[in-house]
Amino acid sequence: MPLLPMRHYPDPILRQKAKTVDLKDPRLPGIVRDMFETMYHESGVGLAANQVGLDLNLAVIDCSGGDDHNAKLVLINPVVLETGGTVEEDEGCLSFPGLRAIARRGERCRVRAFDLEGHAYEVEAGGLLAKALQHETDHLQGKLFIDHLTLASRAAVEGKLKQMKKDAAPKKSGVRA
Ligand code: ZN
Repeated sequence: MPLLPMRHYPDPILRQKAKTVDLKDPRLPGIVRDMFETMYHESGVGLAANQVGLDLNLAVIDCSGGDDHNAKLVLINPVVLETGGTVEEDEGCLSFPGLRAIARRGERCRVRAFDLEGHAYEVEAGGLLAKALQHETDHLQGKLFIDHLTLASRAAVEGKLKQMKKDAAPKKSGVRA
C-alpha cells in the first residue's frame, strides 16, 4: 500500500474547500486505507484528503495511534453540527512540519458524517477527539489551525510561517531568458 505524498503549507490546495464525495466512488476504500497508512507513518491523529493532494471531502482520524481498531473514524462529507465551550491548547498539523502553537477550539463538538458503507452517523466528543474533529473538518473547508491561534501564539509563529512561504517560493534561476 503506497504512502501518499504530504502537502505542506503554503500549498494552495490547503486553502481550497474540498469537493463533495460521491459515496459510490469505487476508489474510496483504497484511498481511505492509504490515508490511514500515511497518517500512522507521519505519527498524526488525523488526516484530511486535501493534505495528500486529493480534492475530496474526506478525512480519517485515530486518536489511539493505531492501538484501538474501534478508534478509527472515516469522515465522508462531514458537517460540524455544534461546538461548545472553549479551550486553548497546543496544536500541530502534518502540513506544518515542526510547528506547534496554541489554538482556540471548542471544548466539545458534534459532527455528522458518512462512513465507508455510505451510512450517516454522528460522533460527539470532548478532549483530543473533539480537537481532531474540528481540525480535520476545518481542513476540508480550506481552513487551517493557524487561523485559530491566540494573538500571542500567532505573533510567535509569524516568522516561521513567512520562512515556510519563502522556502516554497519558486527559486529564481540564474539564467536570464
Ligand atoms: Zn492539519
